[in-house]
Amino acid sequence: MRIHLLGTGSADGWPNPFCHCASCEAERAAGRSRTSSAALVDGVLLIDAGPTATNAATRAGIGLATVAHVLITHGHPDHLAPEFLLWREWISGLDLLHVHGPSGAIERCRHWVGPASPVEFHVVQAGDTIDAKTPLGEYAIRVLQAAHGHGNGDLLADEAVLYDITDPEGTSLLYATDTGPFSAEQSGQVAGRAFDIMLVDESFGFKDDHGTGHLDLATLPAMLAGLRGEGAITDATDVIAIHLSHHNPPERELRAALHPLGVRIVDDLTLIDTNVAPQPVHHLIIGGVRSGKSTYAEALARLHPAVAYVATGESRKDDAEWAARVAEHQARRPPEWTTIETADVQSLLDDAGPGDALLIDCIGMWLTRQLDEAGAWSTDETTAAAARIDVLARIEVLAESTRASKAHVFMVTNEVGQGVVPATSSGRLFRDLMGIANSRLSQASTEVTFMVAGRPLPLGTLPATQTGSAS
Ligand SMILES: [Zn+2]
Ligand SMILES: [Zn+2]
Repeated sequence: MRIHLLGTGSADGWPNPFCHCASCEAERAAGRSRTSSAALVDGVLLIDAGPTATNAATRAGIGLATVAHVLITHGHPDHLAPEFLLWREWISGLDLLHVHGPSGAIERCRHWVGPASPVEFHVVQAGDTIDAKTPLGEYAIRVLQAAHGHGNGDLLADEAVLYDITDPEGTSLLYATDTGPFSAEQSGQVAGRAFDIMLVDESFGFKDDHGTGHLDLATLPAMLAGLRGEGAITDATDVIAIHLSHHNPPERELRAALHPLGVRIVDDLTLIDTNVAPQPVHHLIIGGVRSGKSTYAEALARLHPAVAYVATGESRKDDAEWAARVAEHQARRPPEWTTIETADVQSLLDDAGPGDALLIDCIGMWLTRQLDEAGAWSTDETTAAAARIDVLARIEVLAESTRASKAHVFMVTNEVGQGVVPATSSGRLFRDLMGIANSRLSQASTEVTFMVAGRPLPLGTLPATQTGSAS
């Protein structure tokens, strides 16, 4: 199953365009925006069609002519902007489109289509099943009761439904927004389903007095625990929070709060492909002295909830200038990060698991220690030559561990080859091996950024012949 998340935000989006709270400002500063939640499954099922959903598909480079079924959860305007039916009607030669939804939502759609429009409406309610035929085969869909109504006469909320979708290969998705906490009966409806993917409402973050049919960081854990108890979701379920609003804390804090629940968040327009295991990020950040490379690497790592900062330099406790520099770096880092002082970077890369993040600072100091250990500074030529070969082998091992690491890796390294030729042979040896290490680590990385004057310059992809084995 391939799910394009056309939106992951709440009705107003996050940031809310009119709001200057800390959460909105943080997201705005980071250049992130989330619009009305909607998802496109395998290009053939569109779940919800709010005001931004169809344009989001366009921004993702996806056409919607292949959509055979639209599944509307409810008629709230962030989930249904029915004018998309008119835009579709302007295109001739399209196949029949089936639009499924609760009665109020379908009523909102009817006057947007002409009598000859190839659209068929289907009013659904909780408990129904839909056999959705598509060019890819038949999808089995169960309509579930949402807990979105809150007894104030909002009929569109009262009739809201959720969808349990199984594709022709048997991969399953629970689409669970908008909803508040499930009752025991609702959890029971999905008992034993062991969904592959769950997209779940997490509208309100730390705000818990909203009193509407949504989830927040206080109610989501209990709801997920209930679903795990029923076998509806398992440790293998990819649970992704959507319908995110500015009542959530800024993204880094939200990730940290969701991580222990086994829940992640992704950006709008992310593709979730169950046939491809999520690939960790291996990002090499290269730059000269004081180019801003460490600060940039820290900013990248901050988006991950569990970061281990790996200091590769030897601690020089008797060096005051060094100690001041270390203290400056330490003060900049979030207090929840762990710090590991070691030159054995390879073991950390090998042992780290999925979801872990390693910030390795830096490869220049790692290389210095490898050269020290190997005896590369020896005046005896044979010893020095053997040491050089030894260090080259260590570089290969490090590159291979980087490539194979299951963790997200942010690796800081030094560009030392652009100045004058070092006067000493040891200086030249270091410069040469640093250049080799950088090239090998670059080949082993998914992304490489060159830092110049505090600005990141993303470097392009490698020619296909140089990328090596991706296995
Ligand atoms: Zn909504
Ligand atoms: Zn709603």
